Amino acid sequence: MLEKWFEIIFDHKISLRERMFRVVTGICMLALIFILPLGRSLINMLLLAAGLVIMALVVKFSIKKECINGGATVITLLLLVLFPISFFSAGGFYSGMPEWFVLCFVYISITLEGRRKGWFFLLCTLETLACYYLAFYYPELAAKNTQSHSFFDSAISVIMVGVLTSLMLIFLNRIYEEENKITIQQKKEIEELNKAENHFFASMSHEIRTPINTIIGLNEIILRGDISQDIAENARNIQGASKILLTLINDILDLSKIKSGKMEIVNVSYETGELFSEIVNMIWIKAREKGLEFRLQVDSSIPSMLCGDEVRIKQVLINLLNNALKYTSEGSITLSVRCERLRLNRVRVWYTVEDTGQGVKKESIPYIFNAFKRVDQEKNRHIEGTGLGLSIVHQLVELMGGEISVNSVYTKGSTFIVMLEQDIVDDKELGTFTLTSRARSRVGEQYRQSFEAPEAHILVVDDNDMNLMVVRKLLAATKIQLDTVLSGAECLRRTQEQHYDVILMDHLMPEMDGIQCLHRLRAQPGGLCQSSPVIALTANAGSDNQLLYKKEGFSGYLAKPVSGALLEAAVMSLLPKELVNMSEESDLSEIGKDILIFEQTQRLSIMVTTDSVCDLPESLRKEFGISVCPYYVCTDKGRFLDEVELRADELLLHMLDGKSGHSEAPRVEDYERFFAEKLTEAQNVIHITMAKNASEGYQNALEAAKSFENVTVLDSGHLSSSLGLIVLYAASMAEQHATKAQIVKLVDELKKHISSAFIIKSTHMMCQAGQIPKRTQVVCDALLLHPIIELKKSKMVVTGVEMGDFVHMIKRYVRRVLLDARNIDRRILFITYAGLEDRSIAYIQKLVKQYCPFERVYLQKASSAIACNCGAGAFGLLFMKKNDVAVHFMQAAPPEE
Ligand code: ADP
Repeated sequence: MLEKWFEIIFDHKISLRERMFRVVTGICMLALIFILPLGRSLINMLLLAAGLVIMALVVKFSIKKECINGGATVITLLLLVLFPISFFSAGGFYSGMPEWFVLCFVYISITLEGRRKGWFFLLCTLETLACYYLAFYYPELAAKNTQSHSFFDSAISVIMVGVLTSLMLIFLNRIYEEENKITIQQKKEIEELNKAENHFFASMSHEIRTPINTIIGLNEIILRGDISQDIAENARNIQGASKILLTLINDILDLSKIKSGKMEIVNVSYETGELFSEIVNMIWIKAREKGLEFRLQVDSSIPSMLCGDEVRIKQVLINLLNNALKYTSEGSITLSVRCERLRLNRVRVWYTVEDTGQGVKKESIPYIFNAFKRVDQEKNRHIEGTGLGLSIVHQLVELMGGEISVNSVYTKGSTFIVMLEQDIVDDKELGTFTLTSRARSRVGEQYRQSFEAPEAHILVVDDNDMNLMVVRKLLAATKIQLDTVLSGAECLRRTQEQHYDVILMDHLMPEMDGIQCLHRLRAQPGGLCQSSPVIALTANAGSDNQLLYKKEGFSGYLAKPVSGALLEAAVMSLLPKELVNMSEESDLSEIGKDILIFEQTQRLSIMVTTDSVCDLPESLRKEFGISVCPYYVCTDKGRFLDEVELRADELLLHMLDGKSGHSEAPRVEDYERFFAEKLTEAQNVIHITMAKNASEGYQNALEAAKSFENVTVLDSGHLSSSLGLIVLYAASMAEQHATKAQIVKLVDELKKHISSAFIIKSTHMMCQAGQIPKRTQVVCDALLLHPIIELKKSKMVVTGVEMGDFVHMIKRYVRRVLLDARNIDRRILFITYAGLEDRSIAYIQKLVKQYCPFERVYLQKASSAIACNCGAGAFGLLFMKKNDVAVHFMQAAPPEE
């Protein structure tokens, strides 16, 4: 029986509550069995025995009737009756009974639920108090006990209650542990299931797209031919149905992504005007075809560039507009955009889609955002739809941190309002944006050949025969010489024998996928297509895939099924112009936006990047294509991106009020984002950081670089423009096609040849930033000393001091730094300063000319991240000492400023 009891309490199929009830009641019954022999009188013992039997019956009955709370209540009442009787008959508080009251409290706390638990707690407390009160004021009520009896009784009871309570806890703990294990296991199973489900949806989408590609492609070929009206109508119906099928697949894929938390919001800078143009172009003609008026009202003060997930915003608006079109049979559709400026750099944008259609019944409004829910089924019977669109829209808006609401008057029309907050990238106002100025005519239904290129060679790589046939047929009219292969390996064999002007590559192929094939193609020894543009032509749809293909180095991306017009437009834009003969009527301008030909068709081999603290003039950074990852500047007003959100002058003004500021290196995630973006533009990134002992930048960049194969992080061992100088040399070397190893070696060498001494007016800021010790500051302040700081082995060291007033200090510093003029490489000098007056700068320039004239002198304001560390009045002359290494690499240096 005991074995069965054990089995039951660890059987997770039985409810947790029932098992707990069994454990706790079982232990209380055990307690009664123990108390039984301690009973002083026969009546007492009989009472306890009766209690035991009643308890057993109640347990059985309540479990059978599945009424645990009721059973527990009856047992608690029983205990509340039995314990006071035993209390008085055993000798009041000079017995062992008080300890058993504790057990009663434990029983109540574990087995009862809700309010009942509170009431019984109170009852038990009152009863205990009453027993104690009576036993104290009316001692004659309690049986008399000898001292040894009391001692024995009490000791046994303490031990028994202790053991029983521990036993109870041990059992309960075991049950909880088991439950926990099961929960973890179930969680794992659910995750696995989710993964399998996502995989299923992704592969289903891919698998269905492949045959649809064939259907749509071949159908287009039929439509191009000389066919009867009847056949043309059938073919057009096939085309319409395939497109609906495609939308459905996309919706299901989106929904599964959102459900599994895989839908990522990718915020990018985008032009608001472009976005509206694209939307208008997709909608207005459909509205006209349905005899509806399409109105557009765009707030002219909306910034011309914003930062948001352009793809998703478009998806949301197009979905709402398409619904408006679907559910409106006469009247108009209006898209209005209004914006409200929040704090600096942020706007709240309201997009409103209004129609004069059938509207939604008031009682249906709460359900329209539910997935698969179509309301007003009767009326919508003839309108195509799945009930997925608004659910996706709702979830996308939420993911973007926005809000969506709907106002509708049944039979009169609906208004959907979406609110999204976005960052401003370009504050310039968009101005008047009208429908007529933006709407372009859409490509007609009739196919028009856009170009011919009989001399061009194209290779199509796809593991599916049908797909190859569709591309071949769609491009047949262009007379391009087209080869097809069924695998990556075959593609690599072909590219060794033949040069192709464009390659169209499928992504998911067995053995070697499209991305692997592209990488091998780019590095193929003796390959004839190392730099040929490669377009990903894939059924692996989704906006995140566009990013993937761009990052991997594809020149463009086309999602299957692809129409003939898009395919022609994509191929034409990548073919060498001399091979293309444009047809007279061709007008591909209107579909140019729909194909994704990535701007950077040729990725750089090596790109040199650095941090915003490099203090290089913008003109030089632009000229050498040096990208910077911004540092943060922290003030009491918040954290700002160095030179992006806060300029050095603003910071110095702020610090004049006695406020402080300090710089902070980009975090690992910032570097990761930065590197990922740069790797879309170059195959290799060499990132040169500020001295590793002066900031955490080096460590963070190094950590971030671990996530990428082609990022090399180098410690410049310097600050400010000295770092800038090294970066400049490295970038110039990259421009001259030096290898990665050569650049790394150069940076290592150059570090030793840079003079980076700078002088600071007051040691205050540097001390606050922890760059120099407090005692140095105290001494400098007391003696009016201006220390000269230099970086030695990546560490800041005071290498000298100047005394006296500011003008004196300038003169002595310049003379001191340029003293050894014979050993100075006089080609380039940076005068980097923070908070200096024009007068002082002119004076420094004059002194430089006098002691050691340079070919090019750059006046450079320190970035705010540097300025907040050295304070106003700091400046340095930064140049290269003569060395052999750098000699070759500055020919391309820019003209004097
Ligand atoms: P569907 O594929 O059915 O259009 P949605 O999720 O987009 O699915 O919309 C859900 C329901 O909301 C629709 O079935 C329709 O009844 C209602 N609805 C959506 N937009 C409008 C609108 N502009 N006017 C009237 N009813 C609408």
